[in-house]
Amino acid sequence: MPAPLDESIHVHSVQEEYFYMMVHPCACGGAWLSDSQQVEEAAGRVRHHVAARCFTCRKEQAFHFELDGGANPKDPVRQVNPTPEPSRALDAAEWLDLARFYLGRIERLKAATEKAQSLLDARQCLEEALKFYGPQDEEPPPGALWSDASRRKASRQASAYRRSTIQEMLERIPAMERLRKADSLEQKEFQKGVRHRAEERVGRKWWQFWRLWRGK
Ligand SMILES: [Zn+2]
Repeated sequence: MPAPLDESIHVHSVQEEYFYMMVHPCACGGAWLSDSQQVEEAAGRVRHHVAARCFTCRKEQAFHFELDGGANPKDPVRQVNPTPEPSRALDAAEWLDLARFYLGRIERLKAATEKAQSLLDARQCLEEALKFYGPQDEEPPPGALWSDASRRKASRQASAYRRSTIQEMLERIPAMERLRKADSLEQKEFQKGVRHRAEERVGRKWWQFWRLWRGK
């Protein structure tokens, strides 16, 4: 279930943190920009404290994330959640909204790598939505929708929330491996960049660089 903002939000990856901030914009509707990040590692727990500022009204907001399972520098950059556990940060309706956003922007993108990245994000968001459905569920089960807004969306667009619809969408998107291959050039560039920056500033963690790649 979603946590109040003063509590840690449990995520499986930095990408999930990014999606959380995207789905929960400022009250004015503006997008959050990350000003600074702190990493805290203690007793086997990894926490990210993100200081963000609204792009539109400049309001400041702190986000506290806890990375379940820690952080593995070898994980692919855009990986959302390698586990079968459903997200604790976003509900099924929010994952479906994100998937539609990434599918919707593909037409507007010119570069093949960007298209592949958008498909990769869409694919993972659909998979996250599906993780809330039990083997017998065709409709979203009650635990999949956490707010009145989500429940309203699901009842208004019942067919979009059927398991079979989500599966059909997934079948139309190229397989993860193919998309990751198309994304691998950026992945290589990313790792090169990380190595370079790590040499520059010894002691900083690799994943503090993620925002350099998100701000594009
Ligand atoms: Zn604002």
